[in-house]
Amino acid sequence: MMAAAREHHTVPLSVLLKRELANERVEKPEILYGQACQSKKGEDFTLLKTECQRIVGDGITTYSVFGLFDGHNGSAAAIYTKENLLNNFIAAMPPDLNREEWVAALPRALVAGFVKTDKDFQQRARTSGTTVTFAVIEGLVITVASVGDSRCILESAEGDLYYLSADHRLECNEEERERITASGGEVGRLNTGGGAEIGPLRCWPGGLCLSRSIGDVDVGEYIVPVPYVKQIKLSTGGGRLIISSDGVWDALSDEVALDCCRGMPVEAAAAQIVKEAVQVKGLRDDTTCIVIDIVPPEKPAAPLPQPKKLGRGVFKSMFRKRSPESSSQIDKEYLEPDVVEELFEEGSAMLSERFCFDAMHFCVRCRLDTKYPLCKMFKLFICAVCQVEIKPDEGISIHVGSSDFGKLRPWDGPFLCSSCQEKKEAMEGKRPPGDRHSSDSD
Ligand SMILES: [Zn+2]
Repeated sequence: MMAAAREHHTVPLSVLLKRELANERVEKPEILYGQACQSKKGEDFTLLKTECQRIVGDGITTYSVFGLFDGHNGSAAAIYTKENLLNNFIAAMPPDLNREEWVAALPRALVAGFVKTDKDFQQRARTSGTTVTFAVIEGLVITVASVGDSRCILESAEGDLYYLSADHRLECNEEERERITASGGEVGRLNTGGGAEIGPLRCWPGGLCLSRSIGDVDVGEYIVPVPYVKQIKLSTGGGRLIISSDGVWDALSDEVALDCCRGMPVEAAAAQIVKEAVQVKGLRDDTTCIVIDIVPPEKPAAPLPQPKKLGRGVFKSMFRKRSPESSSQIDKEYLEPDVVEELFEEGSAMLSERFCFDAMHFCVRCRLDTKYPLCKMFKLFICAVCQVEIKPDEGISIHVGSSDFGKLRPWDGPFLCSSCQEKKEAMEGKRPPGDRHSSDSD
């Protein structure tokens, strides 16, 4: 009995999705979106794409992606990322996954897509960098990957506020300051020369205020493109998502942003948020906002005859009594599932932790059960980041050098090509700066 109860402590993704099917909630919500922008430097870019198609064993389904790219020191990185990130992420998704596996594979494929986009852009040796906030919406599941400080918030139908992005601003993220210092970077304010320090905390060399970004070839490699990823499943009530650049968040609190456009359709809501932000602070920065409403389909009338004397609560208690024997956690969750549920959250900058396949981590951190075998979630002999084919003598297990490595065998994947392995080491501060292209000759 004890063992059985323990197995059910977390709700596996498979259960959530099956429950959705059982409750006939697989019907897709409607996605409504609008955007607004007031431009100062012309370095904010957006990607709004619904009806992306995915062919799977269980049919064709569609999903939507929304991206916000707030560039700095030029717009090249923001434009490059807007044009390539989606494809790089799709390329990192393993083939032949059913819907459940596809949703489960999203966080890792997003990490791979971000790192590949950064690596490819840096090889073009162009300066500039960009924040990225990238949301993938499939049914009621929202997955957001982010680097930088373009925040994404969600207000659920129940009125609760959720943060779906991290804030990778050195000023307000102590963990990131420690990571950068440990990797050999220096964190401090701008020194005016007379000893006075001004402005926000920055990373030196380079002077960037952000601890993660795509691009930025000319700053230290501890400014990494590894995104924070959060995945949640909405209740059937849906919700409203707001993605904005720091031009909005420097002027408005989350509550004000939500309240100032309450009840407005998406396009007007986005315009209202930008207008409010500019009113407060003036147009000092590019100020961009995307508003996305996830609207549940109209619920059909209940097929059962409705005796008027029985209220909803009575039905609920009758339903609950149907299986009086089993009061296990999982049954309870089957009956009362209609709340926002967190499926996944991970923000580590270490690639080895983001591609973890330690059996224990697999369950607890990724909320996956072990029925997703490694060979299905990663392509063998393909680099887990850039998707190039790895020669038999070349693959390096991503766990080499990590603290988890003791538990794993050298042939435990996923594997990286030598070039991505180099990038990984550089991001972890294990390679001296300026040594960037040391082994490009082979
Ligand atoms: Zn690679």
